[in-house]
Amino acid sequence: MNVNDSERMYSILEMSNFTPVEKPDQASLIIINSCSVREKPVHKVYSEVGTYRDLKKQNPDLLIGVGGCVGQQEKEKLIKNQPLIDFVFGTDAIDELPQTLQTLLGRSSSKDKVISAQFHHREPYHVDTLVRNPGVSTFVNITKGCDNFCTFCVVPFTRGREKSRPMKHVLMDLNGLVKRGVKEVTLLGQNVNSYTSDCGADFADLLKTVAMETGIERIRYTTSHPKDFNQKLMDVMAEHQNKICEYIHLPFQSGNSRILEKMNRGYTREEYLEKIKQIKATIPNVVLSTDIIVGFPGETEEEFQDTVRMVEEVGYETIFAFKYSPRPFTKAARFEEQIDEDIKSERLNRLFDVHDKLSFEWVKKYEGQTLKVLVEKVEGENKLSGRSTQNKVTFFEGPADLVGQTVPVKITRALPNVLRGQLES
Ligand code: SF4
Repeated sequence: MNVNDSERMYSILEMSNFTPVEKPDQASLIIINSCSVREKPVHKVYSEVGTYRDLKKQNPDLLIGVGGCVGQQEKEKLIKNQPLIDFVFGTDAIDELPQTLQTLLGRSSSKDKVISAQFHHREPYHVDTLVRNPGVSTFVNITKGCDNFCTFCVVPFTRGREKSRPMKHVLMDLNGLVKRGVKEVTLLGQNVNSYTSDCGADFADLLKTVAMETGIERIRYTTSHPKDFNQKLMDVMAEHQNKICEYIHLPFQSGNSRILEKMNRGYTREEYLEKIKQIKATIPNVVLSTDIIVGFPGETEEEFQDTVRMVEEVGYETIFAFKYSPRPFTKAARFEEQIDEDIKSERLNRLFDVHDKLSFEWVKKYEGQTLKVLVEKVEGENKLSGRSTQNKVTFFEGPADLVGQTVPVKITRALPNVLRGQLES
């Protein structure tokens, strides 16, 4: 989501006659696009801004801004605590950047700061294809914000309530991207499964329409919420496997129902596992990944073991696991029984150990298989990389003019995150 926001900033600034430079010391404007999902985000912003202290001394006209979730969350506090910052803007204020900069350029003193516009959340936005060089694969937002209020998550506070973009706008963006040579799109949202267009279409309808009515060759999406992932969506994926990749990222967060309830996730362990069963029955070659939080307040060793068992039982090829860390405004930050950092670290390491061993075994199945790889990049002389439909980064030898094409690659070596192979003729 943040990568996509950065692209929008670039595009808007280019339209306002800014040009990118190679190094910070050549810049007249530096923007830090922050993320507050992980630990110590505010601290990271201050230390990043601090690295520009000398540049600001040499060039007092240099403008430094902070956007993204930390900007949204901290607002004027950032400027108060770090005078090097000239402006702060919220996640919905990206489109206002030209006006913000105009105000700053017209200021009488460098002490005049701008706490930008738009900390309220605007109506669904229309055109979202402000992508400079979309390349072969790019993102398109379909929803913004989230209404779920999981007790550990700051997103509803930084990105606001969920809003869906009208389906016709999503399709317009996609058709524009196809004309610019894009082959693969990832439809983006905090919870894509609760997408609802103004015309009444749900996410499954959108996915089906994208598969049938646009020239996009490959479709991915993220992130899904288990409570909203339904059979209709599974059926659409199964029906359109030629376009919709058989890869699903379905965060379970904890394998224990008591902890899931404390997290306000809206499903139990049993319900989640039932959904996995349905998914595997409907989409036979499905590849799964997930997000996990260890050391949520009150999590016992036995409850953590439920999480480990979930990883073993479901067979996720990739896991994104993190130690619980309290986020501002969230309920869980005020829960008693916060878990000791050492215990969290130890549990996280144990979880990774279990998964590492299993995933080495699980991915062996790819060796000898021929996968369809969309070539994304030249990695060196006669070396290419791309992604398979299973979302595996694959390296192989081949000529540069294959970039943008989907080619058959026979896998010779499979590691959990990377495959190596040979181009088949
Ligand atoms: S569904 Fe995702 S984005 Fe929404 S509150 Fe929960 S974790 Fe955060």
